[in-house]
Amino acid sequence: MADQIKVTGMVIASAPIGENDKRIVLLTKEKGKISAFARGARRPGSQLMAPSDSFAFGSFYLVCARDYYTLAGAEITNYFRELADDLTATYTACYFLELAAYFAVENQDGSQMLNLIYAAFKALLNPNIDNRLVRHIYELKILVINGEYPEFFRCRICKGEDNLTGFSIAHDGVVCGGCKSGMGDVITICQSALYTLQFIVCTDIRKLFTFRVSEEVLSELRMVMARCMNTYVDRRMKSLEILDELM
Ligand SMILES: [Zn+2]
Repeated sequence: MADQIKVTGMVIASAPIGENDKRIVLLTKEKGKISAFARGARRPGSQLMAPSDSFAFGSFYLVCARDYYTLAGAEITNYFRELADDLTATYTACYFLELAAYFAVENQDGSQMLNLIYAAFKALLNPNIDNRLVRHIYELKILVINGEYPEFFRCRICKGEDNLTGFSIAHDGVVCGGCKSGMGDVITICQSALYTLQFIVCTDIRKLFTFRVSEEVLSELRMVMARCMNTYVDRRMKSLEILDELM
């Protein structure tokens, strides 16, 4: 009898396989990203049917036999079903999971990324915070968790910390007023946009989705993050095809 393990995590991808089964990808606190088979999960009445859907969050019981995991049971604490009430929120959540699947690694602590998804999903359901802002916070923070992201605190040319009014993806970060003149790809950013980017980099996930920004700041964040994601993610996320039409 193979050993059963218990992990805390979320189903970040789910696809039918064979006649009655599903193959799922879990992002777990303990083991990072892992794949598992959910046998019979598409049979009517199967106890594994709902827990093997994307967005299901909770405890999962897995059996490891030969080279793969099989889902034996689950205790789901949140299905995030309310996300389905809003199309933009649904596709934003799908985009978050695609990014998590892209960056998460097997057998590595997945707790930070899992905490980020959980907090971001809660924020998507909070009517007081703009979902476009939730998206850009998530995009930057997942880069930070992954450890590779642009410089937002010092000019990339002169290393100065004052008058940081430009962002250049070619220089991988912010540039000061003096250094940005003549630069081709530079985006002008206001003080509030700079502080927002710095805040996202430094702040604990629990306090991350607690602020609002003006339309001006949001539009600058959108431009900065679009360039960052193009550079740091070398695959086009499927959910973006629809999300970019909606947002
Ligand atoms: Zn400079």
